[in-house]
Amino acid sequence: MLFVSQRAIFRLLARAMLSPALNSTSRSDMLALHRCRFRSGGLNLTAQKLVAALATLVALGAPAPGRAAVDRPPQFIVMAFDNCTELERWQELTDFAAELNKDGERVHFTFFVSGSNFIADSSRNIYAGPHQRRGYSRISFGGTPEQIRKRVEYVNALYRSGHEIASHAVGHFNGASWSAVDWEKEFRAFGQILKNVGPNNGLPGSQFAFPVTDVIGFRAPYLAKGAALYSALKAHGFRYDTSGVGQADAWPEKIDGLWRFNLAMLRIQGSGRGTLSMDYNFFVAQSRAAYDPRRYDMTREQTLKTYLQYFKSNYAGNRAPLHIGHHFMNYGGGAYNEALKSFARAVCGLPEVRCVTYAKLADFMDQQNANTLAAFRRGDFAHVAIPTLNVAQVLR
Ligand SMILES: [Zn+2]
Repeated sequence: MLFVSQRAIFRLLARAMLSPALNSTSRSDMLALHRCRFRSGGLNLTAQKLVAALATLVALGAPAPGRAAVDRPPQFIVMAFDNCTELERWQELTDFAAELNKDGERVHFTFFVSGSNFIADSSRNIYAGPHQRRGYSRISFGGTPEQIRKRVEYVNALYRSGHEIASHAVGHFNGASWSAVDWEKEFRAFGQILKNVGPNNGLPGSQFAFPVTDVIGFRAPYLAKGAALYSALKAHGFRYDTSGVGQADAWPEKIDGLWRFNLAMLRIQGSGRGTLSMDYNFFVAQSRAAYDPRRYDMTREQTLKTYLQYFKSNYAGNRAPLHIGHHFMNYGGGAYNEALKSFARAVCGLPEVRCVTYAKLADFMDQQNANTLAAFRRGDFAHVAIPTLNVAQVLR
């Protein structure tokens, strides 16, 4: 909760009364106040009451013609990773985030981890997926206990520095035809795997730095989903799902209590092919999922340019959040993950840009009322030009 000093209130009142119409600065101050509560000399006064009083005062002056409906929202950019198995990628992303955040908080990632990463190969029989034989997963198990111990350390360190750990289920099965009971079984297994990572793998000192209830986001393996998934997600206390697909300029919708943060349909710059805002989908569209080192530079450049275009049109447009999904697997010889890093270096930290986790985006979305969200969707706010981006430099 925020508290505003008495002096700040007087400053705000003075400014509002001096200006004949509300300029954008005082409007944003008012909106900021509107969202908080403040105390004044023992009196408890809601910000809403003050805003109403100010509105009356300002109404005596001349209102600005054609004023935008709401304050301009930040440009949210969410970058997330699936599976999250390879230890060298945990190290690489830990280093990358530390590099970008050394002078301030520029970027935080969401990691959709697979439960199988936290079961050592030798302990695989503790898990049985819905309609699957015991000890089987579509992706690899976690390797040796020592590798699990290391992976848990990476997760905990990243969690402590503000990154988010979310769920990609356990055995990476296609759950399109699963019932809610099947999904619930898989979610329960995920919870137990996180909770018992130490005892399951003979690692007495190993445990996660957060409770399973902190895992509030989900991405379905293969983006395979059905109605049953959503009732199970809701029953398990998830706040958002990222398994859907939508338009690049669509603001998220909350359906049946769950935010839907959809991957975007994009056109690849330089090829015109359609794809999803996910590395593997670029890899299929550009190379039919077969790596050819001669295509490394081309695929990296096209991907980066596509992300930059996605950013520019949303930044100057209705500011719909950007959703980019990647994997720890280095598709295309690492061209996609390099493109993503160049993109993050270029845009995270620019004015009004917030490269945040999905959990933070869900918090922001929950604070908006229906009218504000409708204005965001229409782009009904004062627009600004795109900040200068030196693409040549980014591509180096
Ligand atoms: Zn996956």
